[in-house]
Amino acid sequence: MLKNIKRILIANRGEIAVRAIRSIRELGGESIAIYSEADKNSIHQEIADISICIGPPQAEISYLNIPSILAAVEITNADAIYPGYGFLAENPKFAEICEKSEITFIGPRSDTIKLTGDKAEAREAAQQAGVPVIPGSPPVSTLKEALIYARKIGYPVLIKAAAGGGGRGMRVAHNEQELTRLLPIAQREAETSFGDERVYLEKFITDPKHIEIQILADEYGNVVYLGDRECSIQRRHQKLLEEAPSPFITDEVRKRMGEAAVRFAKHVGFTGAGTVEFIVDRDRNFYFIEMNGRIQVEHPVTEMTTGIDIVSWQIRIADGQELTVRQEDIKQVGHAIEFRINAEDPDSFIPNPGTVERLYIPGGYGIRVDTHIYQGYEIPPYYDSLIAKLIVWGKNREEAVERGKRALREFILEGFKTTIPFHLRILDDEEFISGKYTTTLVDKKYIKQK
Ligand code: ADP
Repeated sequence: MLKNIKRILIANRGEIAVRAIRSIRELGGESIAIYSEADKNSIHQEIADISICIGPPQAEISYLNIPSILAAVEITNADAIYPGYGFLAENPKFAEICEKSEITFIGPRSDTIKLTGDKAEAREAAQQAGVPVIPGSPPVSTLKEALIYARKIGYPVLIKAAAGGGGRGMRVAHNEQELTRLLPIAQREAETSFGDERVYLEKFITDPKHIEIQILADEYGNVVYLGDRECSIQRRHQKLLEEAPSPFITDEVRKRMGEAAVRFAKHVGFTGAGTVEFIVDRDRNFYFIEMNGRIQVEHPVTEMTTGIDIVSWQIRIADGQELTVRQEDIKQVGHAIEFRINAEDPDSFIPNPGTVERLYIPGGYGIRVDTHIYQGYEIPPYYDSLIAKLIVWGKNREEAVERGKRALREFILEGFKTTIPFHLRILDDEEFISGKYTTTLVDKKYIKQK
Protein backbone atom coordinates (compact mmCIF):
# COMPACT_ATOMS: atom_id res chain seq x y z
CA MET A 1 0.00 0.00 0.00
CA LEU A 2 1.11 3.55 -0.66
CA LYS A 3 2.01 5.89 2.19
CA ASN A 4 2.86 9.23 0.65
CA ILE A 5 1.90 9.17 -3.01
CA LYS A 6 -1.80 9.22 -3.84
CA ARG A 7 -2.32 10.10 -7.49
CA ILE A 8 0.02 8.92 -10.20
CA LEU A 9 0.01 10.31 -13.71
CA ILE A 10 1.29 7.84 -16.28
CA ALA A 11 3.35 9.65 -18.89
CA ASN A 12 3.05 6.85 -21.40
CA ARG A 13 0.64 4.79 -23.49
CA GLY A 14 0.08 1.23 -24.71
CA GLU A 15 0.74 -1.92 -22.74
CA ILE A 16 3.08 -0.30 -20.23
CA ALA A 17 0.44 2.27 -19.28
CA VAL A 18 -2.01 -0.58 -18.67
CA ARG A 19 0.67 -2.43 -16.69
CA ALA A 20 1.28 0.62 -14.50
CA ILE A 21 -2.43 1.22 -13.86
CA ARG A 22 -2.72 -2.36 -12.59
CA SER A 23 0.05 -1.95 -10.02
CA ILE A 24 -1.14 1.50 -8.96
CA ARG A 25 -4.61 0.11 -8.26
CA GLU A 26 -3.31 -2.84 -6.33
CA LEU A 27 -1.31 -0.42 -4.18
CA GLY A 28 -4.44 1.61 -3.45
CA GLY A 29 -3.40 4.61 -5.54
CA GLU A 30 -5.30 6.59 -8.14
CA SER A 31 -4.19 6.44 -11.76
CA ILE A 32 -4.28 9.26 -14.27
CA ALA A 33 -3.89 8.50 -17.95
CA ILE A 34 -2.74 10.99 -20.54
CA TYR A 35 -3.47 10.32 -24.19
CA SER A 36 -2.98 11.88 -27.59
CA GLU A 37 -5.80 12.49 -30.06
CA ALA A 38 -4.69 9.32 -31.89
CA ASP A 39 -5.19 7.35 -28.67
CA LYS A 40 -8.72 8.47 -27.82
CA ASN A 41 -9.91 4.87 -28.22
CA SER A 42 -7.01 3.49 -26.26
CA ILE A 43 -7.78 1.15 -23.39
CA HIS A 44 -5.32 2.76 -20.97
CA GLN A 45 -7.32 5.97 -20.93
CA GLU A 46 -10.54 4.04 -20.43
CA ILE A 47 -9.43 1.96 -17.46
CA ALA A 48 -7.59 4.73 -15.60
CA ASP A 49 -9.38 6.63 -12.82
CA ILE A 50 -8.96 9.93 -14.65
CA SER A 51 -7.95 10.59 -18.27
CA ILE A 52 -6.81 13.71 -19.97
CA CYS A 53 -5.99 14.47 -23.61
CA ILE A 54 -2.66 16.20 -23.99
CA GLY A 55 -2.38 16.93 -27.67
CA PRO A 56 -2.17 15.82 -31.28
CA PRO A 57 -0.95 12.39 -32.44
CA GLN A 58 2.71 13.24 -33.02
CA ALA A 59 4.72 12.24 -29.94
CA GLU A 60 6.78 15.46 -30.01
CA ILE A 61 3.65 17.45 -29.29
CA SER A 62 1.95 14.98 -26.95
CA TYR A 63 3.80 12.24 -25.04
CA LEU A 64 7.11 14.11 -25.30
CA ASN A 65 5.69 17.54 -24.63
CA ILE A 66 6.83 18.42 -21.11
CA PRO A 67 4.69 21.60 -20.69
CA SER A 68 1.50 19.72 -21.67
CA ILE A 69 2.30 16.90 -19.27
CA LEU A 70 2.98 19.33 -16.44
CA ALA A 71 -0.30 21.10 -17.20
CA ALA A 72 -2.04 17.72 -16.91
CA VAL A 73 -0.34 17.15 -13.56
CA GLU A 74 -1.56 20.56 -12.39
CA ILE A 75 -5.15 20.08 -13.57
CA THR A 76 -5.49 16.60 -12.10
CA ASN A 77 -3.58 17.32 -8.92
CA ALA A 78 -1.23 14.39 -9.43
CA ASP A 79 1.61 13.99 -6.99
CA ALA A 80 3.76 11.55 -8.93
CA ILE A 81 4.65 10.59 -12.51
CA TYR A 82 5.21 7.08 -13.78
CA PRO A 83 7.31 7.35 -16.95
CA GLY A 84 7.33 3.74 -18.25
CA TYR A 85 9.88 3.12 -21.03
CA GLY A 86 10.69 5.24 -24.09
CA PHE A 87 9.27 8.78 -24.34
CA LEU A 88 10.48 10.77 -21.30
CA ALA A 89 11.56 7.82 -19.16
CA GLU A 90 15.27 8.60 -19.37
CA ASN A 91 15.15 12.34 -19.90
CA PRO A 92 17.17 13.96 -17.08
CA LYS A 93 15.64 17.38 -17.76
CA PHE A 94 12.14 16.04 -17.23
CA ALA A 95 13.17 14.31 -14.00
CA GLU A 96 14.85 17.51 -12.83
CA ILE A 97 11.75 19.62 -13.53
CA CYS A 98 9.73 17.11 -11.50
CA GLU A 99 12.23 17.37 -8.63
CA LYS A 100 12.05 21.16 -8.67
CA SER A 101 8.25 21.17 -8.81
CA GLU A 102 8.04 18.63 -6.00
CA ILE A 103 6.39 16.04 -8.17
CA THR A 104 7.68 12.54 -7.42
CA PHE A 105 9.34 11.14 -10.52
CA ILE A 106 9.07 7.36 -10.25
CA GLY A 107 12.65 6.57 -11.20
CA PRO A 108 16.19 7.48 -10.28
CA ARG A 109 17.32 11.03 -9.47
CA SER A 110 17.97 13.30 -12.45
CA ASP A 111 21.75 13.33 -11.94
CA THR A 112 21.82 9.52 -11.96
CA ILE A 113 19.73 9.46 -15.16
CA LYS A 114 22.20 11.89 -16.69
CA LEU A 115 25.15 9.72 -15.76
CA THR A 116 23.70 6.38 -16.85
CA GLY A 117 22.22 7.94 -20.02
CA ASP A 118 25.68 8.89 -21.17
CA LYS A 119 27.22 5.59 -22.24
CA ALA A 120 30.75 6.95 -22.21
CA GLU A 121 30.38 8.23 -18.64
CA ALA A 122 28.62 5.04 -17.56
CA ARG A 123 31.57 3.01 -18.88
CA GLU A 124 33.89 5.05 -16.77
CA ALA A 125 31.71 4.62 -13.69
CA ALA A 126 31.65 0.86 -14.28
CA GLN A 127 35.43 0.77 -14.37
CA GLN A 128 35.58 2.71 -11.13
CA ALA A 129 33.14 0.26 -9.57
CA GLY A 130 35.34 -2.65 -10.55
CA VAL A 131 32.88 -3.94 -13.17
CA PRO A 132 34.51 -5.32 -16.33
CA VAL A 133 33.89 -3.21 -19.45
CA ILE A 134 34.64 -3.98 -23.10
CA PRO A 135 38.01 -2.56 -24.14
CA GLY A 136 37.22 0.83 -25.63
CA SER A 137 37.94 4.54 -25.72
CA PRO A 138 36.66 7.73 -24.14
CA PRO A 139 34.67 9.96 -26.54
CA VAL A 140 36.72 10.73 -29.65
CA SER A 141 36.27 13.85 -31.77
CA THR A 142 38.92 13.60 -34.47
CA LEU A 143 39.75 10.82 -36.89
CA LYS A 144 43.36 10.88 -35.73
CA GLU A 145 42.31 10.13 -32.17
CA ALA A 146 39.92 7.41 -33.32
CA LEU A 147 42.60 5.69 -35.39
CA ILE A 148 45.04 5.66 -32.47
CA TYR A 149 42.48 4.15 -30.09
CA ALA A 150 41.26 1.63 -32.66
CA ARG A 151 44.81 0.39 -33.20
CA LYS A 152 45.13 -0.12 -29.46
CA ILE A 153 41.75 -1.84 -29.13
CA GLY A 154 42.18 -3.98 -32.25
CA TYR A 155 39.69 -4.31 -35.12
CA PRO A 156 36.80 -4.80 -35.54
CA VAL A 157 35.64 -1.82 -33.50
CA LEU A 158 32.12 -0.59 -32.86
CA ILE A 159 31.46 3.15 -33.12
CA LYS A 160 28.80 4.04 -30.57
CA ALA A 161 26.94 7.27 -29.87
CA ALA A 162 27.56 8.40 -26.26
CA ALA A 163 23.93 9.48 -26.03
CA GLY A 164 22.63 6.51 -28.07
CA GLY A 165 19.79 4.17 -27.29
CA GLY A 166 17.20 1.86 -28.79
CA GLY A 167 19.82 -0.07 -30.72
CA ARG A 168 20.44 2.91 -32.98
CA GLY A 169 23.60 4.78 -33.87
CA MET A 170 26.09 1.88 -33.92
CA ARG A 171 28.53 1.14 -36.76
CA VAL A 172 31.13 -1.60 -37.10
CA ALA A 173 34.52 -0.80 -38.64
CA HIS A 174 36.73 -3.76 -39.62
CA ASN A 175 39.79 -1.75 -40.60
CA GLU A 176 41.24 1.76 -40.85
CA GLN A 177 39.59 2.52 -44.20
CA GLU A 178 36.18 1.65 -42.80
CA LEU A 179 36.76 3.67 -39.66
CA THR A 180 37.83 6.66 -41.77
CA ARG A 181 34.67 6.38 -43.82
CA LEU A 182 32.23 5.60 -40.99
CA LEU A 183 33.37 7.98 -38.25
CA PRO A 184 31.92 11.18 -39.80
CA ILE A 185 28.73 9.31 -40.72
CA ALA A 186 28.35 8.04 -37.16
CA GLN A 187 29.00 11.51 -35.73
CA ARG A 188 26.42 13.07 -38.01
CA GLU A 189 23.91 10.34 -37.16
CA ALA A 190 24.53 10.83 -33.45
CA GLU A 191 23.95 14.55 -33.81
CA THR A 192 20.69 14.21 -35.75
CA SER A 193 19.28 11.30 -33.72
CA PHE A 194 20.38 12.26 -30.22
CA GLY A 195 21.42 15.92 -30.46
CA ASP A 196 24.91 15.00 -29.27
CA GLU A 197 27.65 14.17 -31.76
CA ARG A 198 30.01 12.50 -29.27
CA VAL A 199 30.92 8.95 -30.20
CA TYR A 200 33.32 6.45 -28.68
CA LEU A 201 34.83 3.14 -29.72
CA GLU A 202 34.38 -0.30 -28.28
CA LYS A 203 35.91 -3.61 -29.30
CA PHE A 204 33.26 -5.32 -31.44
CA ILE A 205 32.65 -8.72 -29.89
CA THR A 206 31.71 -11.10 -32.68
CA ASP A 207 28.84 -13.42 -31.90
CA PRO A 208 28.16 -12.33 -28.32
CA LYS A 209 25.25 -12.92 -26.01
CA HIS A 210 23.26 -10.13 -24.44
CA ILE A 211 22.47 -10.98 -20.83
CA GLU A 212 21.18 -8.45 -18.34
CA ILE A 213 20.59 -8.21 -14.61
CA GLN A 214 17.47 -6.68 -13.05
CA ILE A 215 18.08 -4.75 -9.87
CA LEU A 216 15.97 -2.94 -7.28
CA ALA A 217 17.45 -0.21 -5.08
CA ASP A 218 15.69 1.76 -2.36
CA GLU A 219 16.53 5.13 -0.84
CA TYR A 220 18.15 3.51 2.20
CA GLY A 221 21.06 1.88 0.43
CA ASN A 222 19.50 -1.56 -0.01
CA VAL A 223 20.21 -3.00 -3.46
CA VAL A 224 19.24 -6.48 -4.66
CA TYR A 225 19.46 -8.29 -8.00
CA LEU A 226 16.56 -10.34 -9.32
CA GLY A 227 18.50 -12.70 -11.51
CA ASP A 228 19.24 -12.47 -15.20
CA ARG A 229 17.50 -12.25 -18.56
CA GLU A 230 18.84 -13.56 -21.82
CA CYS A 231 18.02 -11.13 -24.65
CA SER A 232 20.11 -12.37 -27.57
CA ILE A 233 17.20 -12.82 -29.96
CA GLN A 234 17.52 -9.41 -31.59
CA ARG A 235 17.04 -7.88 -34.97
CA ARG A 236 19.33 -4.95 -35.66
CA HIS A 237 20.14 -4.71 -31.94
CA GLN A 238 16.46 -4.64 -30.98
CA LYS A 239 15.13 -7.39 -28.74
CA LEU A 240 12.34 -9.67 -29.98
CA LEU A 241 12.23 -12.53 -27.47
CA GLU A 242 13.67 -12.76 -23.97
CA GLU A 243 14.02 -15.57 -21.48
CA ALA A 244 14.88 -15.96 -17.82
CA PRO A 245 17.16 -17.43 -16.68
CA SER A 246 19.74 -17.53 -19.48
CA PRO A 247 20.27 -21.12 -20.65
CA PHE A 248 23.96 -20.35 -21.21
CA ILE A 249 25.52 -19.05 -18.02
CA THR A 250 26.28 -21.03 -14.88
CA ASP A 251 24.97 -20.10 -11.42
CA GLU A 252 28.47 -19.04 -10.51
CA VAL A 253 28.68 -16.58 -13.44
CA ARG A 254 25.13 -15.42 -12.71
CA LYS A 255 26.08 -14.62 -9.15
CA ARG A 256 29.18 -12.71 -10.21
CA MET A 257 27.12 -10.74 -12.77
CA GLY A 258 24.48 -9.97 -10.15
CA GLU A 259 27.07 -8.75 -7.70
CA ALA A 260 28.74 -6.62 -10.38
CA ALA A 261 25.35 -5.04 -11.21
CA VAL A 262 24.75 -4.25 -7.54
CA ARG A 263 28.23 -2.73 -7.25
CA PHE A 264 27.54 -0.51 -10.24
CA ALA A 265 24.14 0.59 -8.91
CA LYS A 266 25.64 1.44 -5.53
CA HIS A 267 28.51 3.30 -7.13
CA VAL A 268 26.19 5.63 -9.08
CA GLY A 269 23.73 6.01 -6.19
CA PHE A 270 20.94 4.43 -8.18
CA THR A 271 17.40 4.17 -6.79
CA GLY A 272 14.38 2.44 -8.30
CA ALA A 273 14.24 -0.43 -10.78
CA GLY A 274 17.08 -0.71 -13.22
CA THR A 275 18.80 -3.07 -15.59
CA VAL A 276 22.51 -3.53 -16.02
CA GLU A 277 23.25 -4.89 -19.48
CA PHE A 278 26.23 -7.10 -20.29
CA ILE A 279 27.77 -8.64 -23.38
CA VAL A 280 28.88 -12.21 -22.70
CA ASP A 281 31.43 -13.99 -24.89
CA ARG A 282 31.76 -17.70 -25.67
CA ASP A 283 33.96 -18.24 -22.64
CA ARG A 284 31.31 -16.67 -20.43
CA ASN A 285 33.35 -13.55 -19.75
CA PHE A 286 30.94 -10.69 -19.18
CA TYR A 287 31.38 -7.00 -19.94
CA PHE A 288 29.21 -4.05 -18.92
CA ILE A 289 27.59 -2.19 -21.84
CA GLU A 290 25.05 0.10 -20.20
CA MET A 291 22.48 0.63 -17.48
CA ASN A 292 18.84 1.43 -18.11
CA GLY A 293 17.29 3.21 -15.18
CA ARG A 294 13.68 2.45 -15.99
CA ILE A 295 11.31 -0.44 -16.44
CA GLN A 296 12.24 -2.65 -19.41
CA VAL A 297 9.80 -4.22 -21.88
CA GLU A 298 11.08 -7.65 -20.83
CA HIS A 299 10.58 -7.22 -17.07
CA PRO A 300 7.74 -9.82 -16.89
CA VAL A 301 10.09 -12.79 -17.39
CA THR A 302 11.80 -11.77 -14.17
CA GLU A 303 8.46 -11.28 -12.39
CA MET A 304 7.31 -14.74 -13.51
CA THR A 305 10.45 -16.49 -12.26
CA THR A 306 11.04 -14.56 -9.03
CA GLY A 307 7.45 -13.82 -8.00
CA ILE A 308 8.41 -10.19 -7.41
CA ASP A 309 6.24 -7.41 -8.87
CA ILE A 310 8.88 -5.03 -10.23
CA VAL A 311 6.51 -2.19 -11.18
CA SER A 312 4.95 -2.26 -7.72
CA TRP A 313 8.37 -2.04 -6.15
CA GLN A 314 9.34 0.82 -8.42
CA ILE A 315 6.36 2.76 -7.14
CA ARG A 316 6.86 1.75 -3.52
CA ILE A 317 10.52 2.80 -3.62
CA ALA A 318 9.49 6.22 -4.99
CA ASP A 319 6.93 6.34 -2.18
CA GLY A 320 9.85 6.17 0.26
CA GLN A 321 9.36 2.57 1.32
CA GLU A 322 12.18 0.27 2.27
CA LEU A 323 12.85 -2.91 0.31
CA THR A 324 11.60 -5.92 2.23
CA VAL A 325 13.05 -8.49 -0.16
CA ARG A 326 16.50 -9.66 0.83
CA GLN A 327 19.05 -11.09 -1.56
CA GLU A 328 19.11 -14.49 0.10
CA ASP A 329 15.34 -14.85 -0.35
CA ILE A 330 15.38 -14.20 -4.10
CA LYS A 331 15.27 -17.34 -6.23
CA GLN A 332 14.51 -17.79 -9.91
CA VAL A 333 12.01 -20.63 -10.11
CA GLY A 334 11.33 -22.40 -13.41
CA HIS A 335 11.73 -20.70 -16.74
CA ALA A 336 9.91 -17.84 -18.51
CA ILE A 337 9.94 -16.65 -22.12
CA GLU A 338 8.52 -13.39 -23.48
CA PHE A 339 7.48 -13.01 -27.10
CA ARG A 340 7.13 -9.46 -28.37
CA ILE A 341 4.14 -9.43 -30.68
CA ASN A 342 4.63 -6.55 -33.06
CA ALA A 343 2.33 -5.34 -35.82
CA GLU A 344 5.04 -6.10 -38.35
CA ASP A 345 5.63 -8.37 -41.29
CA PRO A 346 7.28 -11.50 -39.76
CA ASP A 347 9.80 -11.76 -42.63
CA SER A 348 10.86 -8.18 -43.21
CA PHE A 349 9.81 -6.62 -39.88
CA ILE A 350 8.27 -3.71 -41.73
CA PRO A 351 5.55 -2.10 -39.56
CA ASN A 352 2.09 -3.14 -40.60
CA PRO A 353 -0.52 -1.32 -38.51
CA GLY A 354 -4.22 -2.03 -39.04
CA THR A 355 -7.46 -2.77 -37.26
CA VAL A 356 -7.84 -5.75 -34.93
CA GLU A 357 -10.56 -7.63 -36.77
CA ARG A 358 -10.56 -10.77 -34.67
CA LEU A 359 -8.89 -11.39 -31.37
CA TYR A 360 -8.57 -14.37 -29.09
CA ILE A 361 -5.98 -14.14 -26.34
CA PRO A 362 -4.42 -17.43 -25.18
CA GLY A 363 -4.77 -18.47 -21.58
CA GLY A 364 -4.38 -21.38 -19.23
CA TYR A 365 -1.69 -22.36 -16.77
CA GLY A 366 1.57 -20.46 -17.02
CA ILE A 367 0.38 -17.83 -19.50
CA ARG A 368 0.41 -14.05 -19.14
CA VAL A 369 -0.48 -11.51 -21.83
CA ASP A 370 0.26 -7.82 -21.33
CA THR A 371 -1.50 -5.81 -24.01
CA HIS A 372 -3.62 -2.78 -24.75
CA ILE A 373 -5.40 -4.12 -27.82
CA TYR A 374 -8.99 -5.35 -28.09
CA GLN A 375 -11.26 -6.46 -30.88
CA GLY A 376 -12.04 -3.51 -33.16
CA TYR A 377 -9.04 -1.49 -31.94
CA GLU A 378 -7.34 0.50 -34.65
CA ILE A 379 -3.56 0.65 -34.18
CA PRO A 380 -2.38 4.22 -34.64
CA PRO A 381 0.60 4.39 -37.01
CA TYR A 382 2.44 7.00 -34.95
CA TYR A 383 4.06 4.90 -32.26
CA ASP A 384 5.98 1.73 -31.51
CA SER A 385 4.71 -1.42 -33.24
CA LEU A 386 4.65 -3.51 -30.03
CA ILE A 387 1.02 -4.51 -29.51
CA ALA A 388 1.22 -7.38 -27.04
CA LYS A 389 3.65 -9.35 -24.93
CA LEU A 390 3.00 -13.04 -24.49
CA ILE A 391 4.84 -14.42 -21.49
CA VAL A 392 4.91 -18.12 -20.71
CA TRP A 393 6.21 -19.88 -17.64
CA GLY A 394 7.23 -23.54 -17.31
CA LYS A 395 8.88 -25.57 -14.58
CA ASN A 396 11.90 -25.83 -16.89
CA ARG A 397 12.97 -24.43 -20.27
CA GLU A 398 11.63 -27.36 -22.25
CA GLU A 399 8.18 -26.95 -20.75
CA ALA A 400 8.26 -23.18 -21.33
CA VAL A 401 9.14 -23.73 -25.00
CA GLU A 402 6.28 -26.20 -25.48
CA ARG A 403 3.87 -23.90 -23.68
CA GLY A 404 5.09 -21.06 -25.86
CA LYS A 405 4.29 -23.00 -29.02
CA ARG A 406 0.88 -23.92 -27.71
CA ALA A 407 0.04 -20.32 -26.77
CA LEU A 408 1.38 -18.79 -29.99
CA ARG A 409 -0.75 -21.22 -32.02
CA GLU A 410 -3.78 -20.42 -29.90
CA PHE A 411 -3.40 -16.67 -30.39
CA ILE A 412 -5.91 -15.36 -32.93
CA LEU A 413 -5.02 -11.90 -34.13
CA GLU A 414 -6.45 -10.93 -37.51
CA GLY A 415 -6.45 -7.73 -39.54
CA PHE A 416 -2.72 -7.26 -40.11
CA LYS A 417 0.55 -9.17 -40.03
CA THR A 418 2.29 -9.89 -36.74
CA THR A 419 5.54 -11.43 -35.53
CA ILE A 420 3.75 -14.56 -34.21
CA PRO A 421 4.99 -16.75 -37.13
CA PHE A 422 8.54 -15.53 -36.52
CA HIS A 423 8.43 -16.66 -32.88
CA LEU A 424 7.15 -20.10 -33.87
CA ARG A 425 10.15 -20.47 -36.19
CA ILE A 426 12.55 -19.46 -33.44
CA LEU A 427 11.10 -22.04 -31.03
CA ASP A 428 11.95 -24.74 -33.60
CA ASP A 429 15.42 -23.43 -34.31
CA GLU A 430 18.21 -25.81 -33.28
CA GLU A 431 20.51 -23.03 -32.16
CA PHE A 432 17.76 -21.54 -30.04
CA ILE A 433 16.95 -24.91 -28.52
CA SER A 434 20.63 -25.49 -27.70
CA GLY A 435 20.62 -22.27 -25.68
CA LYS A 436 23.92 -21.25 -27.23
CA TYR A 437 22.45 -18.80 -29.72
CA THR A 438 23.92 -15.30 -30.02
CA THR A 439 22.78 -11.84 -31.06
CA THR A 440 23.59 -12.59 -34.71
CA LEU A 441 21.12 -15.50 -35.06
CA VAL A 442 18.13 -13.51 -36.33
CA ASP A 443 19.95 -11.27 -38.78
CA LYS A 444 21.88 -14.29 -40.10
CA LYS A 445 18.97 -16.66 -40.63
CA TYR A 446 15.61 -14.97 -40.44
CA ILE A 447 15.61 -11.70 -42.30
CA LYS A 448 14.38 -11.85 -45.85
CA GLN A 449 15.57 -8.78 -47.72
CA LYS A 450 12.89 -7.42 -49.98
P1 ADP B 1 21.17 0.55 -27.06
O1 ADP B 1 21.20 1.40 -25.82
O2 ADP B 1 21.08 1.36 -28.30
O3 ADP B 1 20.20 -0.57 -26.98
P2 ADP B 1 23.40 -1.18 -26.29
O4 ADP B 1 24.73 -0.65 -25.90
O5 ADP B 1 22.52 -1.66 -25.21
O6 ADP B 1 22.64 -0.10 -27.17
O7 ADP B 1 23.62 -2.33 -27.33
C1 ADP B 1 22.54 -2.94 -28.01
C2 ADP B 1 22.99 -4.24 -28.65
O8 ADP B 1 24.10 -4.01 -29.51
C3 ADP B 1 23.48 -5.28 -27.67
O9 ADP B 1 22.44 -6.02 -27.14
C4 ADP B 1 24.37 -6.12 -28.56
O10 ADP B 1 23.61 -6.98 -29.36
C5 ADP B 1 25.00 -5.10 -29.46
N1 ADP B 1 26.32 -4.63 -28.95
C6 ADP B 1 26.55 -3.57 -28.15
N2 ADP B 1 27.86 -3.42 -27.88
C7 ADP B 1 28.49 -4.42 -28.53
C8 ADP B 1 29.87 -4.82 -28.69
N3 ADP B 1 30.86 -4.15 -28.13
N4 ADP B 1 30.14 -5.90 -29.45
C9 ADP B 1 29.15 -6.59 -30.07
N5 ADP B 1 27.85 -6.26 -29.97
C10 ADP B 1 27.50 -5.19 -29.23
